[in-house]
Amino acid sequence: MIKPIHGIWIICLFTFLQAAAQPHRKPNIIVIVSDDGGYADFDCYGGKQIPTPHINSLAKEGVRFTNAYVSASVCAPSRAGILTGRYQQRFGFEHNMSGKPAPGYTEADMGLDPNQKTIADELQTNGYRTIAIGKWHQGNADAYFPLNRGFDEFYGFREGSRNFFSYKTPRKDVYALYDNNTIVPEEKITYLTDMFTHRAVHFIDQNKARPFFMYLAYNAIHTPLQAKQKDLDRFPSIGEKDRKTYAAMMASMDDGIGAVLQTLKDKGLENNTLIFFINDNGGATNNASDNGILRGMKGSKWEGGIRVATIMKWPGHIRSNTLYNKPVIALDILPTALAAAHAKRTASYALDGVNLLPYLNSTGTPHKDLFWRRGVAAAVRSGKWKLIRVQSDPVLLFNLEADIAETVNLADRYPKIVTTLLRKLEHWEKGLQPPHWGSSFGGYNQVMKHKMETKGRDMERKYP
Ligand code: CA
Repeated sequence: MIKPIHGIWIICLFTFLQAAAQPHRKPNIIVIVSDDGGYADFDCYGGKQIPTPHINSLAKEGVRFTNAYVSASVCAPSRAGILTGRYQQRFGFEHNMSGKPAPGYTEADMGLDPNQKTIADELQTNGYRTIAIGKWHQGNADAYFPLNRGFDEFYGFREGSRNFFSYKTPRKDVYALYDNNTIVPEEKITYLTDMFTHRAVHFIDQNKARPFFMYLAYNAIHTPLQAKQKDLDRFPSIGEKDRKTYAAMMASMDDGIGAVLQTLKDKGLENNTLIFFINDNGGATNNASDNGILRGMKGSKWEGGIRVATIMKWPGHIRSNTLYNKPVIALDILPTALAAAHAKRTASYALDGVNLLPYLNSTGTPHKDLFWRRGVAAAVRSGKWKLIRVQSDPVLLFNLEADIAETVNLADRYPKIVTTLLRKLEHWEKGLQPPHWGSSFGGYNQVMKHKMETKGRDMERKYP
C-alpha cells in the first residue's frame, strides 16, 4: 500500500512544481482572424443583429481598438502583413493572386516571398509549437505551404475560399482540406468552421504543457454563404436569405471562438495566453455584411475597407474592458507577440509594426503615419487627417475626427495638408517594390469606387 501513496505524493509534488513554474512560462499566443466581417456586425462594435458573446468576452477581458487598421482591404495582402509585420508591398505582395505575374516573375513567384520570416518562423525558432488552421491564401505552390513557413502543423486549405460543406467530388487541388500533408476526404467534411474549431481545441489540449502559437484563420464570414440549418434557425427574425446566412455563419464562428476560450480555461491556460482577434478586411460587397457608418467596403481605401474589429486579451498584462483609440495596424501583431514571448528575432530587416504593449498604458503614439496602396489606389493617415489618392483623379482629404464617414472632401480647403500628406505617401512608396503580380480586377473599379459620387451600399457594391 505504501508504494501507491508515494506515487500519489510524487505526482502531487510534480503537479505543484509545474503549477509554481507556470507563471514564468512563455505565454501562448493565439491570433484569431475572421474574414470579410462587417465593421458594425460585431456586437462590441455596435452590432445589434448578430450576438457574438465570445468575441465580446475578449473585449470585456481585454482591450478593444477603435482605430485599428489592416494593411490591405483584401484578404491575401492583409494576411501577408499580419504574418510578417511589414507593409507587404515592400516585398511585392500588393494584390490578391487573382491576376498574372508581373514582367520578370512567373507563377511560381506568386506567394509570400520566401525571404520574409513569418511570425511562426520567429516563434518556432524561439521554442514554440506552431500551427496554422484555416484559410492560408499566401501562395498555392508547395514552397509557400504553411509547413514550409514556420508552422509545425497545418489544418486548412491553400486558397482564399472554399465550400464550408463538402464538395460532391474529391479535391486534390488548392481547395482541398489538408491535415498537414494529407488531404482530408471530402466525405469527412462536416462544416468547415466546426472542423477548424475542433482542431484548435485538440491542438491546445495536445500542447498544454509547452508554449504554443496558433494562427486560427477562419474563412467565415467570406463567401460562399453557407450555414448549418441549426444556426439559420437562430435568426428567425431575419428574412433576407443572404443576411440570414451571414448571421448564422458569424454566430457559428463565435461559437467556435467560445470553445477555444473554454478549452484555455479548462486547461488552466487562460492567464498565460495572449489572444489577438482581428478581421482581415472590411465587410465585402458580396456577403451581406454591414460596415455601419463607415464608408466603402472590402477592396476600397475608405474606412469601410481598412478599419477593422481588433481586440487583444492577456490577463495580468492588459487591463480588462478598456478602449484604445490611437491608430494601430495589423502589422503590430508580430512585434507585440514577439515581445510578449521575449523572443529574439532572426530576421534583420526593419519591421513596420511596433510592440503595442508599452503604449496600452501610456500616452505615447504607436504610429505617426499609416499607409496603404493597392494598384492605382493609395492612402495615408496622419493623426486626424486621411488622404486618398487614386490614379490622376483629384485627391480626397478627410478629417476623421470630425467626419468618420468621409462625407466632406476638404482637399481644396487645406492645400498645405494635401501637399504634406502626398509627400509622405510618395516617400513611403520609395521603399516599396513594384507588385510581383497583378489583380484581375484592374484599375477601373478602384477609380469608380473612390468617386465622391459613389454613395451608399448599393452603389458601392457595383464596384467589387
Ligand atoms: Ca478577407
